[in-house]
Amino acid sequence: MSSSIFIDQFSAQLIADMTEWRQHLHRFPECGFDVNLTADFIADKLQSFGIAVVRDIGKSGLVGILRNGNSTASIGLRADMDALHIHEQNTFSHCSQHDGKMHACGHDGHSAMLLGAACYLAKTSMFDGTVYFIFQPDEEHGRGAQAMIDDGLFERFSIDEVYGIHNYPGLAEGELMVRPGSLMASESSFEITINGVGGHAALPHQGIDPIVVGAQVIMGLQTIVSRNLSAIHETAVVSATEFVTNGTVNVIPSQVVIKGDCRCFTEDSLTSIKDSMVRIVAGICQAAGAKHTFEFINTFYPTVNNPEQTAYSVQAAQKVLGVDKVNAACDPLTISEDFSSMLRVKPGCYVLLGNGTESVGGCALHNPKYDFNDRILTLGASYWIQLVNDRLNQTINCE
Ligand SMILES: [Zn+2]
Ligand SMILES: [Zn+2]
Repeated sequence: MSSSIFIDQFSAQLIADMTEWRQHLHRFPECGFDVNLTADFIADKLQSFGIAVVRDIGKSGLVGILRNGNSTASIGLRADMDALHIHEQNTFSHCSQHDGKMHACGHDGHSAMLLGAACYLAKTSMFDGTVYFIFQPDEEHGRGAQAMIDDGLFERFSIDEVYGIHNYPGLAEGELMVRPGSLMASESSFEITINGVGGHAALPHQGIDPIVVGAQVIMGLQTIVSRNLSAIHETAVVSATEFVTNGTVNVIPSQVVIKGDCRCFTEDSLTSIKDSMVRIVAGICQAAGAKHTFEFINTFYPTVNNPEQTAYSVQAAQKVLGVDKVNAACDPLTISEDFSSMLRVKPGCYVLLGNGTESVGGCALHNPKYDFNDRILTLGASYWIQLVNDRLNQTINCE
């Protein structure tokens, strides 16, 4: 049973408004940094609550600023605004009207629940300090959070700590999970080009066969997880996913291109994997007399929660959802999240809120039949409000 005062205080009107905002955003999804209609909608709502808005941070990102009292303490609450290039297969009335685009990750819900919290906090003024409502573009490609940071998010605004939330299908409605430390994996891609000397398949001694070199490289890459990372402290995946040559049936190719993907849970592991790859690829190619190029692109850093802020998140979630509904030590997840970039700069915590297990909220993220579960809007908004209350109003006991 919830012990939060906030859920009880949510007016039927605000619940209806959040649902309407969420379904409006679902109807008109936008992708990447091209989220201007979404940002207009959110800015209008924030301003209608009396919240100051600064636009165009990290291209289309925006920040709402709500001050109350005299304290210099502050908190940043972040939602993502972007959708995916997916053709929606749902048929309900709020289904996407932008063909080929869809809110299949629930960022429509994240935006609506943060708007709901903003509306409530602006009306009740029950905190002492500043709340920054951060709405970012382009989470899906891992670029929006960094773009806002590069545009001075944390220099222009004095944000002490940052928090984020994602809905999680498969986790029951009313439940939340989190863990201190590494919650989600990094995501990196690599591309290795090996240039040998091609020639007649019958005369391999006259050339340098890049297929044999490439095969050795792939086997070498498989030793990184098993031989370079700690079996106790480091979990990672290194997968070669493409092997393309310019050879044909009786021709030894001159070139092999190997592409792949890596996931790990700490920046130390990330550095270790990259350094090992550089060494293995260079060593094997040199031994064979082949030339090579190597490119490693990190798209998402590991999402690493600060233990102190995780404790605050757990405390707030327990007050809202009930102690037994919060898993404070869940398993790490191999999915990735660009809120990780904000956590590299500021202490904070990212949590996963159950979207449900039934037909309403159980459909997987990024699936063409996914929909955000409107019944969790109040829970997410209440978590935000509780967190603000706990962090910025510690002298008043609202429990
Ligand atoms: Zn997504
Ligand atoms: Zn998402």
